[in-house]
Amino acid sequence: MKGKVWLVGAGPGDVGLMTLKGREALQQADVVVYDALVGDGILALIPEGARRIFAGKRAGNHFLRQEETNRVLLEEALAGNRVVRLKGGDPFLFGRGGEELELLAAHGVPFEIVPGVTSAFAAPAYFGIPVTHRDYCASVHVITGHRRDGAVRDIDYEALVRTGGTLIFLMGIAALPELCEGLLKAGMAPDTPAAVLEKGTTAAQRRIPATLSTLAQACEGARVQTPALIVVGRVCALAERFAWRDALPLSGVKALVTRPRELISGMAALLRERGAEVVELPAIRTVPLADDGRLQAAMEKLASGGYDWAVFTSPSGVRIFMLKLLAERDIRAMAGVKLAAIGDGSRRELLKYGLRCDFVPSVFDGETLGRELAGVCEPGARILIPRAAIGNRALIEGLMGGRGLEIDDIPTYDTQYAVDGDARSVMDGVDFVVFTSASTVKGFAAGMAGLDMTGVRAVCIGAQTRQAAQTLGMKTWMAKRATLEALADAVEEAAEAMKTEN
Ligand code: SAH
Repeated sequence: MKGKVWLVGAGPGDVGLMTLKGREALQQADVVVYDALVGDGILALIPEGARRIFAGKRAGNHFLRQEETNRVLLEEALAGNRVVRLKGGDPFLFGRGGEELELLAAHGVPFEIVPGVTSAFAAPAYFGIPVTHRDYCASVHVITGHRRDGAVRDIDYEALVRTGGTLIFLMGIAALPELCEGLLKAGMAPDTPAAVLEKGTTAAQRRIPATLSTLAQACEGARVQTPALIVVGRVCALAERFAWRDALPLSGVKALVTRPRELISGMAALLRERGAEVVELPAIRTVPLADDGRLQAAMEKLASGGYDWAVFTSPSGVRIFMLKLLAERDIRAMAGVKLAAIGDGSRRELLKYGLRCDFVPSVFDGETLGRELAGVCEPGARILIPRAAIGNRALIEGLMGGRGLEIDDIPTYDTQYAVDGDARSVMDGVDFVVFTSASTVKGFAAGMAGLDMTGVRAVCIGAQTRQAAQTLGMKTWMAKRATLEALADAVEEAAEAMKTEN
């Protein structure tokens, strides 16, 4: 069987700027071949079972590498794999996408192209620079400033200047003085606004503003890092007024969010909304336990009205219990029972099944849940707690409290700690790691063996989570309440503290 190749534009860095179609292609990949320009957040979306191949291009052995990449794509596809070739920005804009297709086409290997958001337009946008504007220009030009044989060739500076349009040079940092010189000689006004935009759309994005005649000098001391592009044109001046991204509270902050593999991270979305760059690291996996008969018996008891309360202590616990229940029965089995949830996540997970909670504690932890629930339920009440095998005993102890409660504590799932292969490289440039449970702290530590934990800044949702992080030697912050919103606030506070530290 012949496989297929998807040539996918990963966008300029920010995960949200990858297309839906590209994401879908990535989700079903057997093999992913990616370059250095693909954002960390996007690499974290590569599915668990897919093989990763790094096709990083480094100056020097460019051509051989390109041929190797072409061959890898061909061989993997011929072996029957679904191959996703992930490229920074748009695959056809100075991306050698065309070259990579030649060999595939020659061998009749099917392929698809998924265009991407190019850095040429997205990086300016993230600094508030509209690449065209009716008051200033009527065209935009994207030019490569790549040097071959020590010089930039084939740039018709006179023609570019004559257009009066915005000029965007990719791969031009090494040749920056030469490019500016060429434009000046061709008659462009020396005070034309210009800028270098570094690492656009990531947490590390930086703008070096200048004019055509001062840009080269402004960049000299600034140690520009790749990737970076050059924008020349009057529209550059608008960044002073339109810089929206750098104004967000968490701009400049890169956070790693750990989560159970099966859950979409609401935390990541919240932090991104506040301007952070977020990398998601699935650090724990929940595995339903084989039923030793106790769960089956509990479900029968539940369906026949044998429980007064069912208590849920995690979203995974809700999901796994409901899956088991609905495999054999329907939602009416829950009809007579009151529901308690440890916090917002579990409460919302129950809502997905049309179930509204009767009780949520004032503080979202096991101890408070146990104590407060014991005060609410009738003496002698019959209580079902389906949850993780390594559940927190504090809850039960609080519940017992000498009130003769009848408690069935049924283990329904196991927590396994797992992080994908090259997880440690994901820590590059990360300012904070955000933990929503003690088990994600353990999962993180298991996946990052060898990492110096005292260098990790951990922002934790609650006391137990913080305890786990402190035990490992991390520097910790804690949310004022155990909600995702409060946790995001804590990241803001930690980021403030870090700024004053520096
Ligand atoms: N196909 C890519 C461009 C590849 S050429 C795209 O459409 O974006 C590589 C050049 O792109 C780099 O030298 C740099 O000039 C530019 N570039 C890529 N990502 C960038 C980013 N996040 N910020 C600024 N420039 C970027």
